[in-house]
Amino acid sequence: MTPRPVACAAPGCANLVSRRSGPGRPFIYCSPECRPNQSRRPPIRVEVDHPDTSPDGRPVQRVWTVRLRRGRQVVVIANDLGWPSANALAGELSDLLRPSSRQKGGTIE
Ligand SMILES: [Zn+2]
Repeated sequence: MTPRPVACAAPGCANLVSRRSGPGRPFIYCSPECRPNQSRRPPIRVEVDHPDTSPDGRPVQRVWTVRLRRGRQVVVIANDLGWPSANALAGELSDLLRPSSRQKGGTIE
């Protein structure tokens, strides 16, 4: 009896996986990239942006929102900031997330 191929268990992946016979767990993903809980999650990014609407009537061009984003997940860290505060906060968050990739004394444009 030959193993019957089944679809990869990852959402959105249409590759077929050959079920192996014999000892061990059967493969349910076509590749290591499709396996969950690997270090394949998108990185967390720091975003500084204008809000859609200003809470106190100021022009939205003058207020800033700082967010953390990973893929489609977004967490708002702070709202209604001035640019210096937003820029400093974003810089600290970037340092926290990637302490080694940013040079000391660097600035975020
Ligand atoms: Zn797959």
